[in-house]
Amino acid sequence: MSAFQGTTAPARPGGSGGLERGAGAGNGTGSGAAPGRADAGGVSAAGVSAAGHGTPASVVGLLAQLASVGVDPRRGGYTRAGFSREERTLHEWFVQEATARGLDVERDRNGVLWAWWDVPGGSRSNAVATGSHLDSVPGGGQYDGPLGVASALAAVDWLRVRGLRPARPLAIVVFPEEEGSRFGVACLGSRLLTGRLDPATAAGLRDASGVTLAEALAESGLDARHLGRDQAALERIGCFVELHVEQGRGLIDRGAAVGLGSSVLGHGRWKLRFSGQGNHAGTTLMDDRRDPLVAAAGAVLAVRDAARAVPEARATVGRLQPLPGGTNVIASAVELWIDARHPDDEVTAALLESIHADAAAAAEAEGCSVELTAESVSPTVDFDHALTTRLGEALEGTTSGGLPDGGPALPAARGGVPVLATGAGHDAGVLAAEIPTAMLFVRNPTGISHSPEEYAADEDTETGALALADALQELLLAP
Ligand SMILES: [Zn+2]
Repeated sequence: MSAFQGTTAPARPGGSGGLERGAGAGNGTGSGAAPGRADAGGVSAAGVSAAGHGTPASVVGLLAQLASVGVDPRRGGYTRAGFSREERTLHEWFVQEATARGLDVERDRNGVLWAWWDVPGGSRSNAVATGSHLDSVPGGGQYDGPLGVASALAAVDWLRVRGLRPARPLAIVVFPEEEGSRFGVACLGSRLLTGRLDPATAAGLRDASGVTLAEALAESGLDARHLGRDQAALERIGCFVELHVEQGRGLIDRGAAVGLGSSVLGHGRWKLRFSGQGNHAGTTLMDDRRDPLVAAAGAVLAVRDAARAVPEARATVGRLQPLPGGTNVIASAVELWIDARHPDDEVTAALLESIHADAAAAAEAEGCSVELTAESVSPTVDFDHALTTRLGEALEGTTSGGLPDGGPALPAARGGVPVLATGAGHDAGVLAAEIPTAMLFVRNPTGISHSPEEYAADEDTETGALALADALQELLLAP
């Protein structure tokens, strides 16, 4: 399944910054922009041409186009691993949607997709970037990742209908393997892009079937020798805004459809490997065993208890793998993974020390040994305060562009836009170390995420897209 390669979009005519309504208003457009793909499944058929004609795509309609990709009948929800066939299919969908809007799509050497709405002259600097990811956790929901990408496409439609003439370029960005569900490193694409992950280490990462990242990249037409910090790509971006479904209860409790992010809680992943003695389940007497799975069970409880003892800490074992993994076999080794989070990075480090000590005691009690390794650790990240304040003011003061056809007024705009910290990691958290970054959250009435029960009401997703359009408009009209 070879994906698209390189750039696909047509040339970019000119224009100048400002708001203009009507024909020819959209710049950075392509003469070949095709507003309505017949095969797109409904939504694009009523899409917006690059010149600003038509009806903006609905977020619901865009997400519906993805409904059949990566359906997981066993777990429920979706399984769309990084650099898998499913993620490639979703990337191909994105390229089609972006190209249909006259955006110039490229894939960089780390596998990150960029879809450009250029300014006259085509200079790509000080750009406003927005976007998210299309991969999922195993058995994930419909919104985590795709909501930000679909909302970005819909926001471009709204800006075109409003006749926006950007003073700076816009890029919609799609990061690969954000969840880290295949190669164990969350935000893999943005970490590679920013150089936060050593390219040689990354290339050697293996998935559960032993496939290396280098091999998976090759299947997607990428060369692992070219991985690593991409200064030229980063220098083009002036700021980044990621819209994401909320993964907690902050907006429900505040009665708001849309909020802004203040920070991403520090988080990390560690692996505990218990080694014991593999043996026969029938012939090995209970007193003669060195069973690493029993030791691991003690560690699972220790993880919970350690986190419970520290206010605001969260620690989870969601994945545990006995080796070789047979019903009538005492395991020889067990690997389990710990996800731990706390606003204070020193507290997180102390938490892991305490868990490690408890795991070592549990291992010793069973005649086993244990080894702890850190797989990825991210400190607490604060989003750019000035950018977030600017967007908050823009969203409060707006009625979605102030134009009669600019979309309905934002319900969230009444009474102020809540600003929330998030316990979930995001590519925005990685980029925040490089460039001014902000996040928008859309209410999730279940408060549940990384599960098929993750949800956003249809009207809230459209409100989110309008809020993103308003935020981008604010940023695109002035540096
Ligand atoms: Zn996400």
